[in-house]
Amino acid sequence: MIAWAGPDGRVLPVVTAPAPVLGAVGDEVDPTSPEVVRLAADLVATMRVSPGCVGLAAPQVGVGAQVFCVDVTGHPKASTVHGAFVLCNAKVIEASRWKAGREGCMSVPDLTGDVKRAGRVVVSAMLPGSGEPVTVTTDAFEARALQHEIDHCDGKLFLDRVAGAHAIYQRKVYL
Ligand SMILES: [Zn+2]
Repeated sequence: MIAWAGPDGRVLPVVTAPAPVLGAVGDEVDPTSPEVVRLAADLVATMRVSPGCVGLAAPQVGVGAQVFCVDVTGHPKASTVHGAFVLCNAKVIEASRWKAGREGCMSVPDLTGDVKRAGRVVVSAMLPGSGEPVTVTTDAFEARALQHEIDHCDGKLFLDRVAGAHAIYQRKVYL
């Protein structure tokens, strides 16, 4: 099971572009360290209080580290769903079924964009706390969320992935 079962975290402020931390490659972490477990808990807590948030990466709370959480439970575009989980030092090791889809991001609050992502991925990572290595195979919206969060840990925003200005949209609805 990869589901998050760690301690309760604190809700942290989310940083927005052009904060430099969002453009920096995050450091690999020791997943067993108490700081990383606390960061994992804080990411989950912050995601849970943010309406519509399906994932959050450490750089978005100002920490340049390769840690992120995802939870696409109940999302209409989701197929495979692993619930709420946190991954450290994640890497995409297989990607296929590329397809464009609309994305938003709490760190880019006023825009959305069409981004081509793999519709099926295999990701290798480590779990916070135990440090256990895991391989996550998923598809559809959860695969998109994983790629978006791994990009954050690599200093990339969805805006770096759009095909051009024609694929960027102003958000019309604020919820
Ligand atoms: Zn994002």
